[in-house]
Parts: sequence; structure tokens; C-alpha cells
Amino acid sequence: MRVKGSLALMTVAIAAVILITVSVAAASTAKSETGVPILLYHRFGPVVADSMTITTAGFESHLKYLRQNGYTVIPLRQLIDSLKSKKPLPAHSVVIVADDAHKSVYTDMFPLARKYNVPVTLFVYPSAISNASYAMTWNQLKEVKETGLFDLQSHTYWHPNFKREKKKLDQKEYEKLVETQLKKAKDKLEKDLNAKVDLLAWPFGIYDEYLMGKASEAGYIAAFSIERRPVRSTDNMMSLPRFLIENSNQGKSFERLLTEN
Ligand SMILES: [Zn+2]
Repeated sequence: MRVKGSLALMTVAIAAVILITVSVAAASTAKSETGVPILLYHRFGPVVADSMTITTAGFESHLKYLRQNGYTVIPLRQLIDSLKSKKPLPAHSVVIVADDAHKSVYTDMFPLARKYNVPVTLFVYPSAISNASYAMTWNQLKEVKETGLFDLQSHTYWHPNFKREKKKLDQKEYEKLVETQLKKAKDKLEKDLNAKVDLLAWPFGIYDEYLMGKASEAGYIAAFSIERRPVRSTDNMMSLPRFLIENSNQGKSFERLLTEN
């Protein structure tokens, strides 16, 4: 009886130790999951013309900092694949993207992306291309894509403010607009650039449940908003956060942004 009793006690003790070990391990896994920051750029230039512009020298200092501090700039596609398959990423992964295909992406960002050999995903709204004076041309898009460094994805067809359109239009018109914006952009980019387009950047970072559902229906597997935090495995695939980079994000401010969790 005594032996049996102590055996039972030992079994309970061992079970408790296993339980504690397992839960400690689980807690530390959850704790150690580091998010991946997506750095979102817009325009580049010799001077800070507006809040969406970063100096070209400032952008180069970001690339230098990443290189010198053990960061790996991975393609956005690799991050999406890893979120879906749980495949591990290199330690200190960072993603670089740019919205709007402003012409300074071609003149200023592109040469530096080549110099530092970093992949960039560019979110394009086709209505501006080879049309608006501030935008890139179709030939420039082809050229950057051919280097293999640039992935071209959708930023809707003409960059509408969905919140404003929803107020302005009746329900039928609004639904039609949403569908056109999502599908036409994807079709045009796929056809003209021979690209696989299934990623979407929400114009102005505006999205809601309805828009997310419509984007999935249109064939997008992930969509991106603007929020100052890194991407985590628990995030909704249709509203993944991106850090909107401003010219003031230099030095300590840039460092902080990369280590924010
Ligand atoms: Zn935009």
C-alpha cells in the first residue's frame, strides 16, 4: 500500500513537472515570436517636399543601417508564404514596399534597391501609369520588374477613398465601384506586366469587413493597411499592418521602429 501510494504520488509529481515544462515552453514561444516590420515608402527626393517624401540620402541610410545591423530584407511574398505555411523566416527579417509608383521610385529608389540588392514590392494603381505626370510609365514598371528585385502588386485601379465613395454613392453604385477597383487593377497589371497579382494595398489604409470580403472574392490572398506595428502570425491576412515611413524616422527613431513589438 505504501509503495503504491508513493508511486501514485511520484506519477502525479512527474505529470506536474511535464505540465509546467510544456506550458513554460509554450509561453516562451509566444513571447519570442518577433513580428516582421513592413516599411512603407512613397516618394524620394533631394528635399522633403511633403510628409510622404523621404530624402534619397535618408532612404540610403536606412538600407545601410539594415545591412550593418544584421537585418535581412525579404520579399513581401516570402512573408506571406511564411504566414500561410508557418515556414520560418531569417532572424531579423524586414520587408520594403512602396505605394503609388511615383516617378521618384524609378529615379531614386530603384538605383538604391539595386545597389543594396534589396527586394521591393510596389503597389500600383494603373490609372496613373503613363498618364499622371508624377507617376511611372508602363515601360519603367517593366524595367524594374525585369531585374527580379521588384514585385508589382495592386493598389486598386484609381486609388479611391472608399469611405468617401460609400457616403456619396447608393449601395448598388458603391458595390460596383468596389468590384471594378479590385478586379480591373488586378486584370490590367496581370495582362500588361505578365505578373501574378494577388496582393493589395488599401488606398489611404481604409478597409472594413465588406471590403476585405470583396478583396478575397476578387482573388487577393492578402491585403495591407497602415498601422505602426510589425506583422504577426495572428494578424488578419486582409489587413496586415505597415509602418508609414516619414523623413523623421532616422537614427534612433528608425531603430525603435525596427524593434517595436
Ligand atoms: Zn496610395
